[in-house]
Amino acid sequence: MNGCVGCALGDKSLAPPGGILKETENFILHQDPLVPIKGFLIVASKRHIRSVAALSQAEASEFFTLCHSARCALAALEDVTGCTLIQEERGHLHLWIFPKYAWMDDLFEDSLSSIRPILAYAKEHLQTEETMREVIACAERLRVLLNE
Ligand SMILES: [Zn+2]
Repeated sequence: MNGCVGCALGDKSLAPPGGILKETENFILHQDPLVPIKGFLIVASKRHIRSVAALSQAEASEFFTLCHSARCALAALEDVTGCTLIQEERGHLHLWIFPKYAWMDDLFEDSLSSIRPILAYAKEHLQTEETMREVIACAERLRVLLNE
């Protein structure tokens, strides 16, 4: 154990809410484990690498094909108004697919710089049993969409 959450999710010693939604040879797709926003998805490498620059061309294609599938699955959710894709080179390689909902536009400016405050708001105000049930139900629906 190296204490890396990405490695723990990748080797299945840690289960994300709703479980793994889709898995390929080198990557997994799952709900964010910390933020109670339904459909906030993470595409992560199984291997502990930091950058997409460490991927072969075939792995890069596998990675983005999974990102594409995830974004297409989110398009089936009626209340998602758009998505923001973010890949920060910090720690274990993962990419955020952050869905936008009307409630975010009611509370925050429609801007990249609003993402951190939205995450903080969700952790502070949305950690309820009801929201977690919605997050898990959404994950289950996405798993069906992604694997049909
Ligand atoms: Zn790792």
